[in-house]
Amino acid sequence: MSQPVRTRIAPSPTGAPHLGTVYMALFNLAFARKHGGQFILRIEDTDRKRSSTESEKAIFKALRWAGIEWDEGPDCGGQYGPYRQSERLDLYEREINRLIENGHAYRCFCTPQRLNELRAKQIANKETPRYDGLCLSLSPEESARRAKSEPFVVRMKIPESGTCEFTDELRGQVSIEWAQIDHQVIRKSDGFPTYHLANVVDDHEMAISHVIRGEEWISSTPKHVLLYQYLGWQCPVFAHLPLLRNPDKSKLSKRKNPTGIFYFRDAGFLPEALLNYLGMMGYTLPDQREIFSLDELIETFDIKRISLGGPIFDLAKLKWLNGRYLREKLNPAEVIDRLQTWKANPEFLGKIMPFALQRLETFSDFFPLAQFLLSEQPIYTHEDLVGKMEPDQPAKLLKIAEWELEKTSSWDRDTLSSVFQKMAEVEDLKLKQLLPLFFMAMSGSTVSLPLFDGIALLGPDLTRMRLRHALELLSANGQGLSKKGIKKLEKEYANRYGERID
Ligand code: GLU
Repeated sequence: MSQPVRTRIAPSPTGAPHLGTVYMALFNLAFARKHGGQFILRIEDTDRKRSSTESEKAIFKALRWAGIEWDEGPDCGGQYGPYRQSERLDLYEREINRLIENGHAYRCFCTPQRLNELRAKQIANKETPRYDGLCLSLSPEESARRAKSEPFVVRMKIPESGTCEFTDELRGQVSIEWAQIDHQVIRKSDGFPTYHLANVVDDHEMAISHVIRGEEWISSTPKHVLLYQYLGWQCPVFAHLPLLRNPDKSKLSKRKNPTGIFYFRDAGFLPEALLNYLGMMGYTLPDQREIFSLDELIETFDIKRISLGGPIFDLAKLKWLNGRYLREKLNPAEVIDRLQTWKANPEFLGKIMPFALQRLETFSDFFPLAQFLLSEQPIYTHEDLVGKMEPDQPAKLLKIAEWELEKTSSWDRDTLSSVFQKMAEVEDLKLKQLLPLFFMAMSGSTVSLPLFDGIALLGPDLTRMRLRHALELLSANGQGLSKKGIKKLEKEYANRYGERID
């Protein structure tokens, strides 16, 4: 390879750090290391509404917990910085202007209303919704004049016909018809670039040699290839990895699997076992070894060995592997050490103690009280869960709680308390009628620590899994929600709770 190898991951800091980010990071890191290259972390925060500093910090923390280290990034710098897109706006503006000047992009002044009507018409005619190019006919002078007083976006031009061909390291030649591709917006009306433009500019400016990312980006690649061409730059090598799947083969989703990296930390997994397991997703070492370290993966890494069948992320298998790590890779003293780092430490126990203390007579009372915070899932029966509620009530309430908690950005006692207060109000229930269900789902008991403090300590990932477990238990006993039931509830929920869920 003539050019030095440089790979990157480019997560967007929107929401909780995702398992898929570690998975992509692992293969990018392994490839870069194998070829003596660099691995870069870039933060793609051009979506101003959804990006947050907390989420960015959580990404750093989650990746480091998982054992991923980067050579260049927003926190450690590097010669191609800044590594946060919101700090690179001048660069994007320069290239957008160059694209406009060279006739590869144009300003579009169409109103959202016109675009909606166009879309509706195209859908009704069974056509692929696509911008019709109305603003393409504006002269450069008129476009520049209107830009002074009207809001606009910038779109890239897309050929009318023909196909885009590019090579994917894992798939060989890929062809996608241009007719399927829209005149992509590359600069939004708020002046920020879109993902496509910023991603291409940065991969070029940061001298990324190999773009190794998830297969959901294949359909975007023609736009990227075209942008490289328009800008007169050489394309990096593309390799699109298969996406992780749930055991039922659907795309890995938090509804069916834990997907937040912190779930694995909080539920007591070893990061090295998680990394090992992710290394087995679509990949096998030449000697088929099942237990391997990051260094061992790097030593023999060959990107061509990645298989394209969707790898199944199976929690039960990960647990089995984690158990082997505990027994084969660590000695008892090390396990004790790791257990302390996990939750058996003064800091974590110190958060529980103030509440537990109210109920302690002897030390023996402590662990039973704290047990729900130290286990992955408490045990209870279906009858325990339903308690005195009407049979169809618990599933609805659990589902609504899942949606409401999804919307909460801060995870502290007071915020959680207000979520449940609101639920009680909307459902016309007293808090003491509502809460026993959640006490049981969260702690497996009605006499545990105060609920909101408990949920705050559990964290969003474990909480979500517990709600899900409770819903599954109801389904197994004929009191769950059908797909249709969920759809109906979703509509009701949107009306009654006043906000749309995505
Ligand atoms: N910001 C994109 C993401 O969140 C990056 C995709 C890419 O690697 O090109 O996944």
